[in-house]
Amino acid sequence: MARTLLDEIISHAREDAPNECCGMVAGTNGEATRVYPARNAEASPFRYAIHPQDQIRIMSEIEGRGEGIAAIYHSHTKTSAEPSQTDINLAENWPDPVYLICSLADPDDPTVRGFVIRSGSVEEVELDVP
Ligand SMILES: [Zn+2]
Repeated sequence: MARTLLDEIISHAREDAPNECCGMVAGTNGEATRVYPARNAEASPFRYAIHPQDQIRIMSEIEGRGEGIAAIYHSHTKTSAEPSQTDINLAENWPDPVYLICSLADPDDPTVRGFVIRSGSVEEVELDVP
């Protein structure tokens, strides 16, 4: 995953703070290609839901480019980049994408980590940022 894409996620997280931000990442052949910011329908510092209108628009754009949804991202503005129980529950409905979490807990050193979340179990994945 290119550093520039991670930076886009971090910028979005900073823009939407103190609320959580969210969005989707397109990819092809296991390579992330593009970041699609979405509105957080919950507009909350504690939870996120990709706005349904944004989700439809983004998914059709991604499909139109012949790519797939590689990841779903959101931010934690005060806590570490670990999936919360809420995040784990939310992922039940959509187990395929990697879940990226951007933490702003240390504002000078934002971190992004990736997880596969399936049936309540969480496994960290290497993001492979060159
Ligand atoms: Zn979360």
